[in-house]
Amino acid sequence: MDIPREVEVVVIGAGQAGLSAAFHLRRGGYEPERDFVVLDGSPAPGGAWQFRWPSLTYGKVHGMHALPGMELTGADPQRPSSEVVAGYFADYERAFGLRVRRPVRVRSVREGDGGRLRVETSAGSWSARALINATGTWDRPFWPRYPGQETFRGRQLHTARYAGPKEFAGERVIVVGGGASGTQHLLEIAPYAAATTWVTRRPPVFREGPFDEEAGRAAVALVEERVRRGLPPRSVVSVTGLPLNDAIRAGLDSGVLDRLPMFDRITPDGVRWDDGREQPADVILWATGFRPVIGHLAPLGLREAGGGIRVEGTRAVADPRVHLVGYGPSASTIGANRAGRAAVRDIRRLLAEEGEPAA
Ligand code: FAD
Repeated sequence: MDIPREVEVVVIGAGQAGLSAAFHLRRGGYEPERDFVVLDGSPAPGGAWQFRWPSLTYGKVHGMHALPGMELTGADPQRPSSEVVAGYFADYERAFGLRVRRPVRVRSVREGDGGRLRVETSAGSWSARALINATGTWDRPFWPRYPGQETFRGRQLHTARYAGPKEFAGERVIVVGGGASGTQHLLEIAPYAAATTWVTRRPPVFREGPFDEEAGRAAVALVEERVRRGLPPRSVVSVTGLPLNDAIRAGLDSGVLDRLPMFDRITPDGVRWDDGREQPADVILWATGFRPVIGHLAPLGLREAGGGIRVEGTRAVADPRVHLVGYGPSASTIGANRAGRAAVRDIRRLLAEEGEPAA
């Protein structure tokens, strides 16, 4: 029989958000394994960063914030961010003795006995008084559906499976999506491909000048407003606009970033617009983002009619034992840091009110 192991807090996910939460639990006197456990479905340290394409070098990411309590110094900007961040996270876990359990995949979280939550995983069950969900979005790529999609004779892939530009040599590639990933794919692929075409639903918004704190706060407020209403969050990156850097300027000048509106249907040989225009293609690359990985929380019934989980700060409004970090407004490295701290502060208060401090 599977007898759940009892802890105060289960943290699901060991990306930026989960590690920040684990750091703050530790600093608050909670002992790993005795008082809390971090369960991570990935094979190695690094969160989703470990899966990002090799040509996404550390120098190309837009401001990765270090985790609390340990700087990331001296990283070579030419190295893949997947290696840099994975190495840094591994050091971090060791330095703070976080004892992350992996690969452990959480299958479901449901109501347990005595007001506790039961966390069922690929490696048995845990019973906890509170839960910090830090599962990110990488495992849930979003593919929009278009008429005729199944008839396409070429190849379709999502950013989640993009491995670099060389595999597109000599091909006609359509890149769908107006975010940072889409533009990076185009700029990388264009020198190799026979032709590239960029389509986006909305005209892309380019941002001049530095992304200062005020702009950051405004972007976060937009996403915050959605999750407070129980709507599925958009990514923070989607509301920050695209930085008008040298690479983007060059792409605009050369025509690689000439954008077309979304096509209306996919044909066996390419895509077509209702005005009769067609674009033949060998590949459609969907750079259409990701959605929060929250399916395992379904038994708790937290989802609103709008499809999202309503949160106040990081706390699920429908269940104060459950916190979502790295979700909606905190889906950036800096947001994830702050969310980890806020969730732990809230949970410590909740558990203290219930009269059983952990440490
Ligand atoms: P993740 O890093 O995705 O970690 C989640 C972890 O949870 C993973 O290890 C996963 O295996 C695990 N997990 C998921 N489901 C389960 C389960 N059921 N059971 C157990 N474990 C599970 N932000 C920035 O600030 N700067 C950038 O430059 C930047 N670049 C980005 C580039 C790309 C291509 C993308 C997609 C995002 C980028 N972001 C960037 C956003 C940023 O990556 C995230 O906000 C942040 O790193 C995510 O951290 P996280 O801890 O929420 O999730």
